[in-house]
Amino acid sequence: MMETNEKRQVYLDYAATTPVKPEVLEAMLPYFTENYGNPSSLYTLGQNAKSALGEARGKVAELIGALPAEVFFTGSGTEADNWAVIETGIWKSGKGRHIITSRIEHHALLHSGKEYLEKEGFEVTYLPVDEEGFVRVSDLANALRDDTTLVSIMFANNEIGTIQPIGELCAAAHERGALFHTDAVQALGNLPINVKELGVDFMSMSAHKIYGPKGVGALYIKRGVNLPGYMHGGAQESGRRAGTENVAGIVGFGRAAELAGQNLESHIEKSRELRDYLIKRLTNEIPDIRINGSMESRLPGNVNVTFKYIEGEAILLLLDMAGISVSTGSACSSASLEPSHVLQAIGVPTGESHGSIRFTVGDYTTKDDLDYTIEKLKAAVEKLRSISSLL
Ligand code: PLP
Repeated sequence: MMETNEKRQVYLDYAATTPVKPEVLEAMLPYFTENYGNPSSLYTLGQNAKSALGEARGKVAELIGALPAEVFFTGSGTEADNWAVIETGIWKSGKGRHIITSRIEHHALLHSGKEYLEKEGFEVTYLPVDEEGFVRVSDLANALRDDTTLVSIMFANNEIGTIQPIGELCAAAHERGALFHTDAVQALGNLPINVKELGVDFMSMSAHKIYGPKGVGALYIKRGVNLPGYMHGGAQESGRRAGTENVAGIVGFGRAAELAGQNLESHIEKSRELRDYLIKRLTNEIPDIRINGSMESRLPGNVNVTFKYIEGEAILLLLDMAGISVSTGSACSSASLEPSHVLQAIGVPTGESHGSIRFTVGDYTTKDDLDYTIEKLKAAVEKLRSISSLL
């Protein structure tokens, strides 16, 4: 096929962020202009904004099987993680100062542990994972102690897509009297989630991974679990998260959650088909690669692949020149040259982990996009291997 000068754009980084859907933007716009009231104001303009918050809360709650009063809006998924983990640590420190998480968590979690809790004298256990990225329930059971107050294990991993057995892990934590938090930022909108069936006490979410705006998240807090507030100030969010609400952003989150619920089955099916098509063609057509993560319990849109003997960054740049956006590791850590902590945890040798790329498909991905990507990828891999000193 003749290349035209017009650059084609193929976005394959839906785990980093998603475009805001037109329906979401449409729902948000009036809250910047005519409905600009502060939800804490008592006159009609303010009360209109307040009722929009209530409606959005109901929609997010419905997506996860929660009560609206159990959903607390935050400024990001990161804030929800920090709130749940740090504040629970402090709140329950009379009972004990031991917290358990895993080695493959997002940095929002890992750094809450390393850079805050550990410095404050808490003990944090980082559970290992197996070669597919699963936390073993038996490892958790062995690590739980009388002074463990919280267990935090992510629902689905942002790099390799492995989906954890959250219900079982949560039951093991509860059996020993510990609370359970899960970071569901990547799982939301990509898997059916029911917090009541899972039994979790806390769950973090983020709007921009489900075709909503950036800078809006939420923490589910089970009714009866009286986690204190993390931000201090006004009485917003039932007194638990101070700060004037991001009304337009929250309205967008609500609409995105509503759409995610309505389209969940078709979204999962379509993403899976594209994911499996990409995996099949990669495996059949490019030698010396390895698909990282689990083949069975994996996010529907995730493909993480190691190309031996070459650097992921070089592949990324060549693909970018062809208008294709992919990621090496997670977006937040890809600016660093440190090997991915997730790939290290599943045992990918350091040299090889540098040659790993994450492709994530979503609602606007087409099979044609993948055909174009494979064509460019094959050329990039061949070119880089031809000059690789490792071969
Ligand atoms: N947790 C996971 C698993 C993520 O993938 C991300 C974002 O990449 C976050 C937390 C942070 O969410 P936010 O970007 O809303 O702060």
